[in-house]
Amino acid sequence: MLPVMERFHSLQGEGAHCGRSAFFIRLAYCKVGCPWCDTKKSWSAELHPKENIIQLSLDAVKAQADGAGFVVLTGGEPLHHNLTPLCKAIRKYTTIDGINPMPIHLETSGVDQITGSPDWITLSPKRHAPPRLEALKLCQELKVIVHEEEDLMFAEDMADKTQKSLLKETLLFLQPGWNNKKGHQLAIQYVRHNPKWRLSMQTHKLLGVQ
Ligand code: SF4
Repeated sequence: MLPVMERFHSLQGEGAHCGRSAFFIRLAYCKVGCPWCDTKKSWSAELHPKENIIQLSLDAVKAQADGAGFVVLTGGEPLHHNLTPLCKAIRKYTTIDGINPMPIHLETSGVDQITGSPDWITLSPKRHAPPRLEALKLCQELKVIVHEEEDLMFAEDMADKTQKSLLKETLLFLQPGWNNKKGHQLAIQYVRHNPKWRLSMQTHKLLGVQ
């Protein structure tokens, strides 16, 4: 059983998989405490019902039949929970006729140990609560939110700590804080002059979709 704020089938609005059909499970509970958080309702686990991981997996199966290409575990901070049982259940129920299960994407701040062996990790580290080194080494995508100049220095520091090899290159994104004019200007200018970085926008908010 896990506390769930919401689950829905929509398009991924941000980052490397932007525009793709996905099934989102937003787990409740976060103690990271970002002042600009846009999902503060997710902070308390008590405010949200505990749900059975098998039911969540069956909902993923329905979304799969309706075209969702992967499952996104988000929050809140999903890694405040042990994700192994949920990921095992999703893999079991979304494997149909021996065909590969739905890939599982994890969106995390990286403050806790990684569980569940996700297929894709989007690490969104926070300056006031830096991530574990393990998360920096394992993530496929680093996404740093930009509000002020210090965020760009933090982004470079985080990028330096990601794994760089011929087999794995972490994709680097700067994402302006929502409705933050200074963050937009800083991120756009920085990406213009630093081609290893890409710009990520919250396109679901621009389009007014969930
Ligand atoms: S880690 Fe995410 S959910 Fe938690 S406070 Fe920060 S932005 Fe909000």
